[in-house]
Amino acid sequence: MMKSVYIALGSNIQPRLNYLEQAMEQLSDHPNVRIIKQSSIYETDPVGPVDQEQFLNMVIEIETDLQPHHLLDVCQKIESQLGRKREIKWGPRTIDLDIIVYNQENIETERLILPHPRLHERAFVLIPLSELNDRLNIVHKDLPVSELLANLPVQDKEGVVIWEQTNGVNASKPFEN
Ligand code: ATP
Ligand code: MG
Ligand code: MG
Repeated sequence: MMKSVYIALGSNIQPRLNYLEQAMEQLSDHPNVRIIKQSSIYETDPVGPVDQEQFLNMVIEIETDLQPHHLLDVCQKIESQLGRKREIKWGPRTIDLDIIVYNQENIETERLILPHPRLHERAFVLIPLSELNDRLNIVHKDLPVSELLANLPVQDKEGVVIWEQTNGVNASKPFEN
């Protein structure tokens, strides 16, 4: 059975765009993964305790028959192939691949929490996600993406600026502050 899954990508080590593209290429090369849609790319202010460079962030929708933990293995393998180091928590990274929503799964294991536990407080995730599907229900909050986004402070959204608009068949309207 194919499941619909949303993955958030982020990079703040150059070449940022190249890391996003390589990660998408490796995902789509996987025989059990198909990329359905991709959001525009946004440039975003870093959030959290670490002073660091700006990020490029985007969200993609994939279809997969991989089980959640197996998909996490695939994502972590791509991260390490693209030179991801975990030196500082929430620090600079070549690529971060977070599974934000897997079907309507609501699970909490040591390695994997779905939906992603910090998704609802992150404009850099909700804005590209809303471009793809703003009516998607986020099960642990039981609210659609559009409402989670409406609940965020304006300043958070101002830190997320369109960087490269998606083009082609899956194009959708980018979010504007
Ligand atoms: P954050 O999770 O706050 O975005 P991060 O992405 O920088 O932080 P990582 O170092 O990439 O954190 O991952 C830390 C651990 O998070 C991973 O080893 C993984 O087991 C776990 N994890 C839990 N839930 C998820 C999820 N939904 N997607 C990806 N990793 C997850
Ligand atoms: Mg992350
Ligand atoms: Mg991560």
